[in-house]
Amino acid sequence: MKVLKGIGKGIKRTVRKALDGRRLLHRRIEYLALHCSDSGFGDEFTIDKWHKARGWRGCGYHKVFCNGYRHSLSRYCAEVDGLVEPGRDVNMRGAHVRGHNANSIGWCLIGGRDLQGHSVFDKWLTESQERSLFAELDRWFDLLPELKVVGHNHFNPNKGCPMLDMQALIRRYRKHRIVNHLTDLNDWHLDFYELPKIAKEA
Ligand SMILES: [Zn+2]
Repeated sequence: MKVLKGIGKGIKRTVRKALDGRRLLHRRIEYLALHCSDSGFGDEFTIDKWHKARGWRGCGYHKVFCNGYRHSLSRYCAEVDGLVEPGRDVNMRGAHVRGHNANSIGWCLIGGRDLQGHSVFDKWLTESQERSLFAELDRWFDLLPELKVVGHNHFNPNKGCPMLDMQALIRRYRKHRIVNHLTDLNDWHLDFYELPKIAKEA
């Protein structure tokens, strides 16, 4: 039974990936909200468990960016660092920003705390996570050039999530676009500068 369940999940994941394509987007998406997991470890499976425990229909995010530690006691695994795991189908409303789930997608970056459980502001995002995040952003800006990228705390300033210096992240992303000869910044229809708010505490 366990084996069958495993196979089922594998198939589901493949289908989910295919649904990320341009022609298959059936929902108006205005925002991409970035989150942190508020943990030093985790993956889609872990978050799925956490969210089910809250009574939700499983992982509320559409993508999860792993940091190399699947479990609290895991050794660092380079293959898992920067790994992007699919969560909810993009056409399915997420469960990540109260009041704004209908017109957004949510990505969760594993981090925001160290492995000892201490809250960390910024500097926790691994290089591999950032590389994967930028690659996924490139794909999504290709698909939706007007997508507005915000931190979770843009919608709820009382939250520390995503525990990132969004302005600094955006500066690094702009540099990435220039280095890779991607669309001129002036062609973007992004509200990067007024949208992200920086929170210092969780
Ligand atoms: Zn969040």
